[in-house]
Amino acid sequence: MVEENHGARYERSHFAFEKAKASIPGGVNSPVRAFRAVGGDPVYFSHGNGAYVWDIDGNRYVDYMLSWGPLIAGHAHPRVVSAVQEQAAKGTSFGAPTLIETELAEEIKKIFPSMDLVRMVNSGTEATMSALRLARAYTGRSKIVKFEGCYHGHADSFLIRAGSGVATLSLPDSPGVPGDLAALTLTIPYNDVDALRMLFEAHGDNIAGVIVEPVAGNMGMVVPDGGFLQAVREITRAYEAVLIFDEVMTGFRVHLGGAQALFGITPDLTTLGKVIGGGLPVGAYGGRREIMELVAPLGPVYQAGTLSGNPLAMAAGLETLRLIQEDGVYEAFTKKGQALTQGFRSFAEKRSIPVQTTQLGSMFGTFFASEPVRNYDTAKKADGERYRHYFHAMLEAGVYLAPSQLESGFLSLAHDDEVITFTLEAMEKAFQQVH
Ligand SMILES: *Cc1c(COP(=O)(O)O)cnc(C)c1O
Repeated sequence: MVEENHGARYERSHFAFEKAKASIPGGVNSPVRAFRAVGGDPVYFSHGNGAYVWDIDGNRYVDYMLSWGPLIAGHAHPRVVSAVQEQAAKGTSFGAPTLIETELAEEIKKIFPSMDLVRMVNSGTEATMSALRLARAYTGRSKIVKFEGCYHGHADSFLIRAGSGVATLSLPDSPGVPGDLAALTLTIPYNDVDALRMLFEAHGDNIAGVIVEPVAGNMGMVVPDGGFLQAVREITRAYEAVLIFDEVMTGFRVHLGGAQALFGITPDLTTLGKVIGGGLPVGAYGGRREIMELVAPLGPVYQAGTLSGNPLAMAAGLETLRLIQEDGVYEAFTKKGQALTQGFRSFAEKRSIPVQTTQLGSMFGTFFASEPVRNYDTAKKADGERYRHYFHAMLEAGVYLAPSQLESGFLSLAHDDEVITFTLEAMEKAFQQVH
């Protein structure tokens, strides 16, 4: 069995974590960073370059976590770094309009034609929270439907059956969230069209909208069944409820134009984040003009932000979007993603270990599970103990994976063939230690 990451090799990270725990809750600023699902101490990073990160003990890793998705250009891409440096020298925030905000909004609209108007915020959480308020204002209804295992940030209304981070810690549904508010969030299993139809038959007149990760990435990567998103679109349209695609993770990842381009479904509102900030804090929401025109100052729905449209973040995001629109980018992602998931399956098969994989564009999922993962219940059946062994064996071998099986893996432009070959060799070694 693989040892957790203790000992000399991780000594500085160990002490850094002990010190942090005295000043920061649990030593971390976001729960899943604490390694609770895999055991051991979190690794402290000192720097990154391309596909690689280095920890403060000097160990190098190929990074498939990539800051949980944003770093599609890789760490410290020279063009992103100079865009940020140039902007920083001119000022970091104005709280007044700048040209670059419009440039990024135009770029987003070009890639996501369903978004007639786009409002920038500072995180994915803010984006989904604002989209929900807007859906309620537009319809004059109060209930919202979400799918079990989908994560839409940590706003009160979404912390109900919210997938990975919450599941990993086994928190009760959501302490601190008023019961009266939680009661407005209706949850049903992912990929379950019948449940959605029944919910609308019972509550249709009170449902403001449906929010969905069109490819789920926060219970591991789970793909929609054929026809699922189509049915969600038809049902919401029939009941005049707002369909919100939360593409904070899938945007620019499963396809340049997100899941909506990949599956050809047009939502009413879309939320973005992660990639559009190029590694700086950004979120955005947008969609049909008629709905977005309700947002202040055009309309009465209030939503604001001191740092919204921050020029450093806009610069990093814009340069990142330019980089991923170069020729052949998504073909290369698909090829590399397939090489990794095929490798994973074949090493598992040699040892008779049941696994499942998913992959689209620059996102992939690996589960130690014997049945296909279609929803949160099947995702939770994946073997956490096996993942724990695998995770630590990969860490030893120089590959940094998400510290929980119920997360997605990510590729960047910098994950070249050499990096993939290195990873496959590490995987083969790691599987020797998985029981
Ligand atoms: C990450 C994520 C969020 C939350 O974004 P933050 O920037 O962490 O607030 C919302 N929705 C989805 C689908 C996400 O993956």
